[in-house]
Amino acid sequence: MVHDVAIIGAGIIGTSLARELTRYKLKVVILEKLPDVAMGATKANSAIVHGGYAEGHETLKGRLCFEGRRRFRELEDELKFGFSETGSLLVSLDDDLEPLERLLESGIRNGLDDLSIIGSEEIRKLEPNITQEVKNALLCKGAGICSPYGMAIAMAENAVENGAEIVLSAEVTGIESENEILNLVTDKGDFQASFVINCAGVNSDKVARMAGADGFEILPRSGEYLLFAKGTGKLLDHVVFQLPTAMGKGVLVTPTIHGNLLIGPDASEIDDREDTSTHAERLENVYNQAKKLYPDIDGETFLRSFTGIRARSSTGDFLIGPSNIKGFINAAGIQSPGLTASPAIARMLVGILEKEGLKLEPENSFNPFRKVVEYSPKDLPYREVDRLSKLPAGSRERIVCRCEQVTEGEIADSMERGIAVTTVDGIKRRTRAAMGWCQGAFCRARIAETMERLTGELPDGSYDIERSGVSRVGKHDFLDFLKARKEE
Ligand SMILES: Cc1cc2nc3c(=O)[nH]c(=O)nc-3n(C[C@H](O)[C@H](O)[C@H](O)COP(=O)(O)OP(=O)(O)OC[C@H]3O[C@@H](n4cnc5c(N)ncnc54)[C@H](O)[C@@H]3O)c2cc1C
Repeated sequence: MVHDVAIIGAGIIGTSLARELTRYKLKVVILEKLPDVAMGATKANSAIVHGGYAEGHETLKGRLCFEGRRRFRELEDELKFGFSETGSLLVSLDDDLEPLERLLESGIRNGLDDLSIIGSEEIRKLEPNITQEVKNALLCKGAGICSPYGMAIAMAENAVENGAEIVLSAEVTGIESENEILNLVTDKGDFQASFVINCAGVNSDKVARMAGADGFEILPRSGEYLLFAKGTGKLLDHVVFQLPTAMGKGVLVTPTIHGNLLIGPDASEIDDREDTSTHAERLENVYNQAKKLYPDIDGETFLRSFTGIRARSSTGDFLIGPSNIKGFINAAGIQSPGLTASPAIARMLVGILEKEGLKLEPENSFNPFRKVVEYSPKDLPYREVDRLSKLPAGSRERIVCRCEQVTEGEIADSMERGIAVTTVDGIKRRTRAAMGWCQGAFCRARIAETMERLTGELPDGSYDIERSGVSRVGKHDFLDFLKARKEE
């Protein structure tokens, strides 16, 4: 079969595009090299729905950010992935208003109407725990936070419900063009399509080269984070940024959509695009910068560290558009604010496809709503959690993960939403099992056993972060490192 559109990569860009395309009578397939969707930059970022003032209007990043942000409320209503308009504050610790005024003007040029500069008194009313040293801030009322992997999973599930096909563990290793049809060679066989969209994130230059559509490079840049225990997000109500630097937006402090505190990222140019290890020195720098803004951040509540890899393009901007190879279209170099811009990028790509000759006939049966995902109450008293966790295996009420109070029924449901879930981390991203205080020490084996009972197959452990061989600084090592530093 020749597909109308084949999408390479199931991050937020590939999945959003697939869903957008299912509004039309089209045969759409996503080919993803890893065993789940959202396993690239989409799962490891700051999860901020940016205001849209930080990038200039002359860039695609600047023009598409606010356009994307404006669609989040509607998308959340349809797909229920987790989004909250917390507002953001870009704070300055000195009296010079000029950098904030410049960003305010940039925002106005990008169409924003919810920006204002406020002084220390107002900032402290909004953020009582922020440092006394804060002087001024740029407030963006409509910025917010979301679950980025939750959003990509929701996009993918809804796209599949509307007829798109997703092939996981299908790395594209070759692209040939013949008679205006592109042939994609993958681990799961060949796929033909009239149009191919390159949404391969940090590998998008390699994929473009396969097609003969090169001309840009990805210069990967990593960012490390510290995530704190559930409940610690109460320290603040807004996303709080510092003034951006040449390397990026700087270390931010934010609550996550699930109530954790998140700080980071730093920025470092790297050679190995797959290297998501973390380092005590870099985390220390993130920690110290964040503590300058919020002195009450408590290292004892540290939960885990992680790294995201930015797919920075050699042009410094998003690269979205047709290439010299007919039918091959790039959506490459999608670094921050790519998550925020993703709804706008998806629409832009549909427009490009139409211009390039794809016929768009509306599909009247398109259903924008994802199957309702219902979760049980998460604040049960300990005795009840203990009782439910001892129920016999096979009972839907049995609690599998005690920290996040996730039941066997929720795990089963998450596996029945159109995308095969074959890893424990896949369950984690869908239900939050193993995301709590014990980080899976109690439930990892119970999740695997539940999955085996439901599918007849033991999940593939090699893609779970704990077993992947990636070295990540843990809580005790980090606290020991900080202590040793103090004693130096
Ligand atoms: C540290 C950091 C912080 C960020 N913070 C924010 C933020 O707060 N707000 C915001 O708006 N944006 C943020 N971003 C940007 C945002 O995360 C990205 O723009 C977005 O996730 C990019 O999505 P993507 O689909 O292009 O790439 P990815 O999510 O990386 O997806 C690409 C996919 O392609 C697959 N793939 C690669 N090669 C092949 C192949 N040969 N065959 C098949 N599949 C392949 C990969 O496995 C992967 O799943 C941040 C990014 C980073 C790294």
